[in-house]
Amino acid sequence: MKIKKRNVLRLLSITLVMCAFMATNHLEAQNKKKKKKKNQIEASAPKPKSKTKSIKDLTKSSKKIEGLFTMYRDTITGSLQMVITEEQLGKEYIHFNQVSNGVIDAGRFRGAYGGSKVFKVKKFYNKIEFVSQNTSFYFDPDNAISKSKDANTSEGIMAAVKIEAHDNKEGLYLIKADGLFLKETFSQVKPPRFPGASPMSFTLGNLDKNKTKINSIKNYNDNTNLEVEYVYSKPSVLNGGSRGVTDGRNVSIKVFHSLIAMPDNDYEIRLDDPRVGYFTTQVNDQTATNSTPYKDLVHRWNLVKKDPNAAISEPVKPITWWMENSTPVEWRETITQGVLEWNKAFEKAGFKNAMVVKLQPDDADWDAGDINYNVLRWTSSPNPPFGGYGPSFVNPKTGEIIGADIMLEYVHFTNRVFYDQLFDLAKADAEFDASEYLQKNKVLCSFGHVMHENTMFGQAVVEAAGGSELEMERMKEEAMLALIMHEVGHTLGLNHNMKASQLFSPEELANKDFIEGKCLTGSVMDYAGINITNDRTKQGQYYDTSVGPYDVWAIQFGYTPFKSEDEKVALLNRSTEPQLIFGNDADDMRAPGKAIDPRVMIGDLSNDQIGYSIDRIKLVDSMMQVVKSKFSKEGESYQELRRAYYILSGQRATAVNVISRFIGGVYVDRAMVGQEGGTQPFTPVSLEDQKRAMDALKKYAFAPEAFSAPNDLYNDLAMQRRGYGFMRGPEDPKIHNQVLTYQRNVLRHLLHRNTLQRITDSELYGNDYSLSKFMTDLNSSIFKADIFGNVNSFRQNLQLAYTNMLIDMLIGKQNSRYTNNAKSMALYNLKQIRSMAAPSGNVSSKAHKQHLRMLIDNALKEVK
Ligand SMILES: [Zn+2]
Repeated sequence: MKIKKRNVLRLLSITLVMCAFMATNHLEAQNKKKKKKKNQIEASAPKPKSKTKSIKDLTKSSKKIEGLFTMYRDTITGSLQMVITEEQLGKEYIHFNQVSNGVIDAGRFRGAYGGSKVFKVKKFYNKIEFVSQNTSFYFDPDNAISKSKDANTSEGIMAAVKIEAHDNKEGLYLIKADGLFLKETFSQVKPPRFPGASPMSFTLGNLDKNKTKINSIKNYNDNTNLEVEYVYSKPSVLNGGSRGVTDGRNVSIKVFHSLIAMPDNDYEIRLDDPRVGYFTTQVNDQTATNSTPYKDLVHRWNLVKKDPNAAISEPVKPITWWMENSTPVEWRETITQGVLEWNKAFEKAGFKNAMVVKLQPDDADWDAGDINYNVLRWTSSPNPPFGGYGPSFVNPKTGEIIGADIMLEYVHFTNRVFYDQLFDLAKADAEFDASEYLQKNKVLCSFGHVMHENTMFGQAVVEAAGGSELEMERMKEEAMLALIMHEVGHTLGLNHNMKASQLFSPEELANKDFIEGKCLTGSVMDYAGINITNDRTKQGQYYDTSVGPYDVWAIQFGYTPFKSEDEKVALLNRSTEPQLIFGNDADDMRAPGKAIDPRVMIGDLSNDQIGYSIDRIKLVDSMMQVVKSKFSKEGESYQELRRAYYILSGQRATAVNVISRFIGGVYVDRAMVGQEGGTQPFTPVSLEDQKRAMDALKKYAFAPEAFSAPNDLYNDLAMQRRGYGFMRGPEDPKIHNQVLTYQRNVLRHLLHRNTLQRITDSELYGNDYSLSKFMTDLNSSIFKADIFGNVNSFRQNLQLAYTNMLIDMLIGKQNSRYTNNAKSMALYNLKQIRSMAAPSGNVSSKAHKQHLRMLIDNALKEVK
């Protein structure tokens, strides 16, 4: 049995060994299996595992939109990514923006241009930067000082965006673009709040990140365009805006952004000259040593002759205008004519067919806001901010115009008086004031407003005289032609020429054969009055029907490919020819106290502005006698009559303003020293003309019966009722307030500290109408006719207002800004009034005179 036991042990050990062997075998097999599986996994993923994602990874669910800056838009979230190429780094581009739609309340209306700027795309470590560049200075590269050209100017880093992916082989960088466009990165959209603005005025809320969106993207080889809808929200509003604002708590402003490749062409820079009126980009030459280191860039199109040797050649690329398909059909022909009239000017500059007009097809796949198209656009806005608006945008480095649009307001060709407040002056405080807005934004052109007012006046005259429907149509057509020529002129680079209406005499303007087919002024860029002859049989053209001699000359300066500097100088030296007279509205002559040259004025016409204005006043006064019978129509409300009354009054007010500019006026001549035909820069208006102006003002602005209409007319000046809110305040006509406002406008110019100071200063260089003579004449024109008897209610108003203005010169808040000579004359005049205003006349007149004396007595106590 012993053996048996041993055998069992052996057997056991063998079994154990075997078990151990088997176990080892099993483990090895298992390990091999695992390894095989791992190998299989590795074989199924072709690329090695990495933390950084590729452009392809990040744009998997996006649609690619190729162009200057290629974009990827996610098809699920709409979020935007942008590709920057290695080549684009360090390069310059232009950013331009334009409001595609907005609200006038916020000053952001359809078509409003937001200006253009140059920016660079730069790489800084793992970021892409968008950096705006300063283009205001020039350094001569040959001058050593140019090495410090960056001193004390700053670049503007508008955005720094993280690089999300990089394709080394292709040289591409991918960045997230939502932050670039959904914020006000490239331009400020929400207007700043001016200090002192009323807390009641309309304002936009805060930019709502969540609601703001990119509406569309259009990509071309040379430009990338996006329309962004900025939404401004706030939980509650004090002022919800005008009716154009649907919901004051959520306001959308849509803006087109264009990123444009820097033009690489043979464009020739043209530098500005003070004798011709072009829009410019101001550049200072920091290396120049003369007193006018200006290298201001004229804004003009890049017109190049197809045949450089031909005297007249077609351009390589004409300036093409597209008429938006919303253009009223009946106006299309006149509008085309208005654009093509400029070809007459271009021919003198050596170009044939420089301007071309096409009609936007109804099925066009491009939007009128596309910068690749220059479009004549139409809107019919609530409270239009402009009458026509002809903006252009330029390359800030050269002044080359890259694109332009013209916005036209339908309202100007209707009979609506949309800016009623300009006439009746019972202004609603919260309402948007077009004229104020226009003054702040000089790029806007209010020619349409002026034209509209003029045409309504013209229509009233024709209607009252029993003129035909055909005559009315002719006037409207001429008005449209003149308006288009004017706005197109802006897009060619021209600014206003408010001096141009000096071209013809009143006799020539009343000679219909003489003026036929002509520009009635030197330039369509003026805001001239409508040509109406008091003798209706002599009526010819109402408006300019062709470009003027100044326009031709200005286009020659801007566009002629000059062969030599001498050729250009010879052209500029023609500036002293009378038909080329130029003066713009840089120092806005519409505001009292601003104008110095009476010829630079709006609403005037002819080389005898005083005579022409007196004729206009006489026409208005005679119309006032018949207006009631001519404009009260049976079965209709009195709205038409009311409109006619305010238009007539407005024309009269314009006429007396034109006359007032002669007092203390100084003619300006911008001819260079020694230029043939040139005079000295400043020549005061002659004593004779100043006296003539004073006599006219005495008679037509200040006399007891000036501005008065037949009394029974006032009974009928009623607006048509519309709901409850049709009237701004009580609806009765505020006649005294209206007349006084017209008179005060004249006085505000005559007694403006600038005018009074200029009268005294110019006595030294040729002014013979001394301050003492003028102030004495003014005093007597306001008092002499009635102060010793009965004073009517208009004159009481005028006399009190005038007396208060004199008192203000002495003790008012602004008194330190008046010269001592002016203050002494104010005091002298007050004492004269004090002695004239002894109690006499009826009770009302006695009360008035007592009032005057009390005011003066109290004021004199305060004079120190
Ligand atoms: Zn204009």
